[in-house]
Amino acid sequence: MHIQIAKTAGFCMGVRRAVDMAIDAANKSKGPICTYGPLIHNPQVLDILEEKGIPILKGIPEKGEGTIIIRAHGIPPCQQKKLQDAGFTVMDATCPRVIRVQTIIRKHTESGHHVIIAGDADHPEVVGLLGYAGSTGHVISSMEELAALPVFEKAIIVAQTTQNTRFYEGISTWVTKERSHYKVFNTICDSTEKRQNETMALAKEVDLVIVVGGKESGNTQRLAEVAMEAGTSSLHIESAEEIPKDILKDKKRIGITAGASTPNWILRQVVSTIESQAMTDSPMQAWIKKIQSFLLSSNIYLAMGAAALSYAASMMQGFNHEFRYSLIAATYILSMQIFNTLTGIPSDRYNNPERAKLYETHRPFFFILAGFAGITGLATAFEAGILPFAMLFFMTLAGILYTAPLLPRSLSRSHIRSLKDIPGSKTILIAIAWGVLCVILPTSAIRGSLDTATLASFLFVAALVFVRTAFFDIMALQGDRIVGKETLPILLGEEKSRRLLILLLTAVFTGTFLCIHLSIFPAQAFLLALPPFLLIWMLCGEISGRIPADTRLAFHIESLLILSGILAAMIKISVI
Ligand code: SF4
Repeated sequence: MHIQIAKTAGFCMGVRRAVDMAIDAANKSKGPICTYGPLIHNPQVLDILEEKGIPILKGIPEKGEGTIIIRAHGIPPCQQKKLQDAGFTVMDATCPRVIRVQTIIRKHTESGHHVIIAGDADHPEVVGLLGYAGSTGHVISSMEELAALPVFEKAIIVAQTTQNTRFYEGISTWVTKERSHYKVFNTICDSTEKRQNETMALAKEVDLVIVVGGKESGNTQRLAEVAMEAGTSSLHIESAEEIPKDILKDKKRIGITAGASTPNWILRQVVSTIESQAMTDSPMQAWIKKIQSFLLSSNIYLAMGAAALSYAASMMQGFNHEFRYSLIAATYILSMQIFNTLTGIPSDRYNNPERAKLYETHRPFFFILAGFAGITGLATAFEAGILPFAMLFFMTLAGILYTAPLLPRSLSRSHIRSLKDIPGSKTILIAIAWGVLCVILPTSAIRGSLDTATLASFLFVAALVFVRTAFFDIMALQGDRIVGKETLPILLGEEKSRRLLILLLTAVFTGTFLCIHLSIFPAQAFLLALPPFLLIWMLCGEISGRIPADTRLAFHIESLLILSGILAAMIKISVI
């Protein structure tokens, strides 16, 4: 079965901004926080906000305290004033595109225009817009209602941002003919338009379109209608549990899209449920998928990547590798990653539900595996000599200290209690740890000295691992934010993080050739420029939506580490 995910599926800019503002406020501020009305139309997100201590305030009390967040749809100005007068600190999460419509209305109302709003009179956004127009505001939802309005001397027409594009085009044409003195503003959000157009195109290519999103969400309902208009069956669900068991039977191509208020992790849960229910895979394909998924979730595949990178680093420096150093790298990474995954189950429930389930169900097994891997690594290092053992022992200690609270809660004034709470620290420290483990440790133990090639190999490994970790953090952004993790993409923002990663990979790619040119690396090491190049390609594909951020992409990213080892082995064979 082929699953095609719409590039435009999921949070739009305005919804993402509102949810981020609310979750950041809950993670950082101390006083009470609530939202005025539901922040967005998605019950699962509203449940999470409730769990994080952000209830919904339905009316305006006479007296209030703390922060009140205004939803992405905006509210009438008189209500905002009432909230301030009641004593709330107002945090305005109104979408900037809705603010633009409010500004147009305010400006034209002041200059005596009537305001005609094309939209649904009960929709919160329209209620808010009407508040800016006052007594000169009129809402219409059909051409008949527009034609029935009196002829105004001065009037403007605006649309609810999620309005149907074709309906609004009809209005513009009618106004040009019948009320040419009216001003028409195109205030439909292009995010809505792109989403509808893509759903239409998707529906023509698949057997079934699954639309994920709140049942109350107007833009999500419209996506299901658009799929039906294209003649394809569609299913509107709020969560993965609603997928009927036999609906995927005989379906070869499934299209998945989601409304503007659907978070990525719900979309991911739906994709993962469909993948596991898929009936058309051959038994062989199903087995391959299961093995892939287990290798990824258990971190065994990542540990294999560490072993491969350790081997590649020796080759780059031109000395013979010893297998035990790959074993040390693999066992250390396996042990630390399993412990990290066990402590990260709360965010995995959103980002990677399959992995969270696996670790919750087999918690004792993973504890034993992590302990066994850790002891094996230390024993191998001990056998290799006092220096490798001391280095690995220090790194194990550092790994434990990284997550352990350094200050008791009563003495810590900020939310930073351990090294892992320092924003962005995880990505940097993991990269350094891999560099030490795969480059410094084997080089100092086997060769006994470090040189320029060691530094260049260290930078190659650390940069590759830095990008890999940050790439996964970008994919897990929403779940991490919910549980209050301070990853690099949360600190820098998604766009800046992606730019940084591309810049870093470009430096690694060109740096590899520079090192060959300066005879720091052997000439055949040009092959090792392939993994950073492929990673740039995957990153660009994910940004453009060409490559979905799913389990397959995660598997391909981890495969690049193993590919480095394979390429190093090929170079070694060619040299011999
Ligand atoms: S659909 Fe457009 S206008 Fe509405 S919240 Fe999203 S970005 Fe803003």
